[in-house]
This record gives sequence, C-alpha cells and structure tokens, in this order.
Amino acid sequence: MGKPTGFMEYARDLPVVRHPGERIRDWKEFHGHLPEASLREQGARCMDCGVPFCHTGQIIDGLTSGCPLHNLIPEWNDFVYRGRWREALDSLLKTNNFPEFTGRVCPAPCEGSCVLGISEPPVSIKTIECEIIDKAFAQGWVVPEPPTKRTGKRVAVIGSGPAGLACAAQLNKAGHWVTVLERHDRIGGLLMYGIPNMKLDKEIVQRRTDLLSAEGVRFVTNTAVGHDYGVDQLRSEFDAVVLCGGATKPRDLPVEGRGLQGIHFAVDFLHTNTKKLLDGLKQNGGGLSAKGKDVIVIGGGDTGTDCVGTSLRHNCRSLVQFEILPKPPAERAPENPWPQWPVIYRMDYGQEEAANLFGRDPREYSILTKRFVGDDNGHVRGVETIQAAWNKGTDGRFKLEEVPGTQKFWPAQLILLAMGFLGTEKEGLLAQLGVAVTERGNIVINENRMTNVPGVFAAGDASRGQSLVVWAIADGRDAARGVDLHLMGETTLH
Ligand SMILES: Cc1cc2nc3c(=O)[nH]c(=O)nc-3n(C[C@H](O)[C@H](O)[C@H](O)COP(=O)(O)OP(=O)(O)OC[C@H]3O[C@@H](n4cnc5c(N)ncnc54)[C@H](O)[C@@H]3O)c2cc1C
Ligand code: SF4
Repeated sequence: MGKPTGFMEYARDLPVVRHPGERIRDWKEFHGHLPEASLREQGARCMDCGVPFCHTGQIIDGLTSGCPLHNLIPEWNDFVYRGRWREALDSLLKTNNFPEFTGRVCPAPCEGSCVLGISEPPVSIKTIECEIIDKAFAQGWVVPEPPTKRTGKRVAVIGSGPAGLACAAQLNKAGHWVTVLERHDRIGGLLMYGIPNMKLDKEIVQRRTDLLSAEGVRFVTNTAVGHDYGVDQLRSEFDAVVLCGGATKPRDLPVEGRGLQGIHFAVDFLHTNTKKLLDGLKQNGGGLSAKGKDVIVIGGGDTGTDCVGTSLRHNCRSLVQFEILPKPPAERAPENPWPQWPVIYRMDYGQEEAANLFGRDPREYSILTKRFVGDDNGHVRGVETIQAAWNKGTDGRFKLEEVPGTQKFWPAQLILLAMGFLGTEKEGLLAQLGVAVTERGNIVINENRMTNVPGVFAAGDASRGQSLVVWAIADGRDAARGVDLHLMGETTLH
C-alpha cells in the first residue's frame, strides 16, 4: 500500500460524464476521464486491506460479489498511486484480456465488496481500470503479441462475444490455431450488437478484434454453425470446439395483443440501430425507429436502459420504462449486507438522460402488463397495466398480487420487450452435436468446461445463462484452460 492514510485524506472521485442534454444528440461515448493527479489520489484510497474482497468473484444470493476475473486490484491501485502505469498494465493484463470493455460496461461488483465501502464510498476501481488500459493504448503499449511456438492443434470457437474472444485469445497464446465462427456480419457478440455505441464505442471492439487477428486468430463472419457450416465438417476440421453462442432466446410477454405491429424484442431494436449506425444508414428512418413515438420499454435492467438511451437519441415523443419489481431502497437493506452486491436505487445513463429531457426518472415500479391494445390497422396504440404488490406468503417467499382498481392505460406506438433471456437456442447446433442442456436451457459442463460430448466445451452465457461481460471473459479463459489441458495433457493457462 503506497499511502496508508490515503483513504482518510481523499474522497471518492469519478470522471465527469458528458451532459445528458448534449450527449443524446449523438452516438458518441458519454464517459469522461480524470486527470492524472486525481487518478493517483484515487489509487491511494485503496487500503490494501489484507483480505481484499474486491477480487473474490463469488455469487452470493444470486448476485455477483467481487471481481469474477480476480483482478489484482490492490496491486494495480498501488502502481497507479506511484505513477507506475506500465506495471499497472502488466498486472491488469495478467487476469483480464479486455479491460477496455469491462472498464466501460462492467457494473463493478468489485466496488460493491470493497472493504472501504463498509464505511465510506468505495475505491473507484472501474475508473482506474479503464484509465490504465486507455492510457496504454494511447501510449502505444498494446501491440500484437503472437505466440512464438505453434502446437499444430486447431480449435473452433463458435460465437464472438466476450466469452469467445477471451477463449480465443488464451488458446492462441497457448499456441493453438484458433478460428472464431460468427453468424453476424461483425465480430463482438453483444459487445457489438447489444450494448449501444454511447456505452461502448464499436471502434474499441474492432480495435481488439484487429489485435487478435494480428496475433493469429482467424475470424469468419456471416457463418451460422449448424446451418451454413455443418457439424461433421466442424468435428473433422478441428481438434476441439468451444460453444460460446450466448443465451440468445429473449423472454416473451404472451399477453393479449402480443401479435400487434410495433412490439419488438429489445435486442432486435438495438441490433438494427447499431447496424444502421455502422453501415452509415439514415438513423431516424426505417421500421425500427422511435422517432416521434410514445415508447414503452418493458424491463428495468441493462437492456431496458439501453433501449431508453437509444429511443431518446431517435427523438421519441415520450418514454416510460416498466419494472415489475418494487423500487429498491436508497441504502442497503438489512438483508443485503456488505460484501453482497448492493441492491439500491441507481440512475443509470439512460434514466439520467430521460430525467434531464422529460423532468423525471422514466421508471414505473411494480407494474404488471395485462394486455396490448391495437388500432384498426393492427398496430399497437397502448398498453393496459395493473399495479402489483409483492407480499410475503406463508412459505416466506414474496408473491406478486394484483392491486384491484389500479388498471391504467398507457398510450404507445412502440413497445420494447427487455425482460431478459431464456438460455440457448438448444434446437439448432446444440441438438445436432448432442450437447446436453439444463431445464433453463444452459449447456451442461464439467469442472473443465467440457460438455457431455468429448472435445466440445462451453463458456459464457451459453453455459451460465444471461450474465455479465466480466463473467463471460472469466468463463472464456476458464474454457481455454480446459481445452489446453484436454489437447496437451497439461496447461499453464489460468
Ligand atoms: C442489450 C444488452 C446490454 C447489456 N449490457 C451489459 C453491460 O452493460 N454490462 C455487462 O457486463 N453486461 C451487459 N450485458 C450482458 C452481456 O452482454 C453478456 O452477458 C455477454 O455479452 C455474454 O457474452 P457471450 O460471449 O457469452 O455471448 P454473446 O455476447 O451473446 O455472444 C454470442 C455470439 O454467438 C453468436 N452465435 C450464436 N450461435 C451461433 C452459431 N450457431 N454460429 C455462429 N455464431 C453464433 C451470436 O451471434 C453472438 O454474436 C448486456 C446484454 C444485453 C442484451
Ligand atoms: S472487471 Fe468489473 S468487477 Fe473486475 S475489477 Fe473491473 S470493474 Fe471491477
């Protein structure tokens, strides 16, 4: 620990982000930067507390606590405090292949379990992580590092999200020839076509893809394995296969009127938007635009927030976001103690932007959608809802009950369904390979991430269920370790 009294001397500081009123006029990233002197102070706030919960990476009560990558946070905080940025980078890259992604989009469970966070605002870990890697790129320290020896083994990675990319990076480092097969036209999975540009600039995703290509990873796009590329060919051309296809089945809302026009899955809306942006097409035109419409986003998570931010940039007329759960408390509840992820009320970037434009947080809590209402042309014109109450049953579990007399009609011409995902598309490639899945649709794996089919492994949302970028990277690394062990009989990957 560089400065034993740092946590008493300096307050938590975060970069100033672009003003919501300004940033909704474009698609550029909203993140800001802290000056070097402030970053060093932030590094000095780390107490090097002996048992650093920030890097434990465990699930408590279904929520992530600590960094799943086990990033060596106290070590790089200390390097930053001392201005030793190059060493901070080396330390960071030992555990995280893509800090430029996590430094931008990770919800930072590390900060939720930071020991300083028990009594003071936690160390700004995510900000420091992002600054280390951004500085490294700016200084030209991040260069392709192809392996010096090749094993001659060939591995296919199916899916190019963070799990597939991390797995490919690690396997390539171990000297295997890696081919990443992706059905979309661009590499990155949800980093490319889920999370919008203002949160993660697509040039940053492309920059990493280019680096991996220069290191020897082969990327094949527009290729749906199991459809455009047969399973027999896959098994005969590669020594091992890693399934990183994500949890792509969106949860539907099968209530009356679901068939009306104007009701879309959030991922389709977000995908179309980013594709139009990257292909240089006119932003506010086309079928999937929110321009001039009353928009309702159903679902209060990250995906819903991205729909809010995107609709605002389309110039929607009004915007409401439904959340079925009650509004979280401002402070940790007694049953949600440190080091658990704090389930508290937060304003994410999309809600901040909506509040700035319309004067209020767009979220409506404890709302249950009863039916969609259409016009004479078969297009949605609104939603009927009822207020929900969450009461504890005799078994101690919370049960949702409708509150009589609270029906309400909300006008809307565009409805975006952002209620999470139901696991893998098990009927296609997975069925052809004979890979077992759980009832929830997640691929079953053993301790080395191998499926029931020898030589076939799985990582990321495909095996974990819908999760976070940081878990996908951790799983991808873990699968690479399993594959290396399988192919070589031993491994030094971790
Ligand atoms: C809108 C949205 C916003 C999110 N925001 C955040 C956030 O801010 N922070 C965060 O930590 N997490 C966020 N998440 C979650 C995070 O993006 C995922 O947990 C993560 O991307 C999972 O990575 P993955 O590699 O397992 O799968 P994915 O990123 O889903 O990638 C899977 C890839 O596999 C491809 N594929 C599937 N089947 C085949 C096939 N048969 N052949 C070829 N290719 C195939 C798919 O096209 C896709 O590109 C968000 C998710 C969504 C939907
Ligand atoms: S990857 Fe996420 S959890 Fe890990 S140190 Fe970075 S922000 Fe924290």
